[in-house]
Amino acid sequence: MNIAKLHLKPLVEGLFYLGEFMVKRFVVGGLLTNCYVYVDDETKEAIIVDPAESDSSIDSFVDSNGLRVVAIVNTHCHFDHVGGNAYYKEKYGVSLAIGYYDINCLEMAHLEARIFGVGIKQSPKPDIFLNDGDVINVGNSKFSVIHTPGHTPGSICLYESKEKVLFSGDTLFFESVGRWDLPGGDYSALMRSLEKLFILPDDTAVYPGHGDPTTIGHEKRYNPFLK
Ligand SMILES: [Zn+2]
Repeated sequence: MNIAKLHLKPLVEGLFYLGEFMVKRFVVGGLLTNCYVYVDDETKEAIIVDPAESDSSIDSFVDSNGLRVVAIVNTHCHFDHVGGNAYYKEKYGVSLAIGYYDINCLEMAHLEARIFGVGIKQSPKPDIFLNDGDVINVGNSKFSVIHTPGHTPGSICLYESKEKVLFSGDTLFFESVGRWDLPGGDYSALMRSLEKLFILPDDTAVYPGHGDPTTIGHEKRYNPFLK
C-alpha cells in the first residue's frame, strides 16, 4: 500500500483521509494560504495549523464533526498565516503555539499586512514557544517539531512519524521552496533546513503552506532548489 498516494488523493475537495486521521485543507485569505485541520479520528482531537483568517467553512467542519480543538499552531508568523489566531483562540479557548524565534515576526504581522493592503486582527501572544524536538500530542498522534529557519527565523515543520505526515509551512512546497529574501530570511539556513526534511521517509506526505501537497520522495527527485 502506498501511503503517500492515499494521503495525496482527496476523497472530496480538500479532504485527505487514511482511516486513523484526517487532514482537511482550507484555502483562505488573499494569498491563498493552506489552513489545515488535522484530526485524530479515534479521539476527535484536532489542531488547526496556520489559520490565515477566520472562515465559516473551518468552523462548520470542526463543529459538525464534533471535533475538540486542542491547539492552534503557526508554522511561521507571516501575516498570511496568523490572521485567524485571535478568532480561533477565543472560539475554542486553546493555546497558541509558535516557533520560538518567530515572536518578532508575530508581533509585526498585523503591521506587515497593512503594507500589503490587508487588514488582519492582531494575534494574541503565544502561550507556547516551540523548539526543535518538542512534541505536540493530538489524540493518538504525536507531532515532532522540526526547527526549519530560512523562510523566517522561527519557521517550524510538524512531523507525525507513525502516519508520515509533514506540515511544511513555507519551507518546502511542491517543486519549490519558501522565499528567503524577506526580512528574517536566510538562504543558507533554508538549505540546511531542507536537508533536515530530506532525511524523512520518501513516502512522507507533505502539506505545504501554499499550493498542492507532495511527498519527500517527489521533492528529492524533482525539486529544482535542491543542491
Ligand atoms: Zn511565509
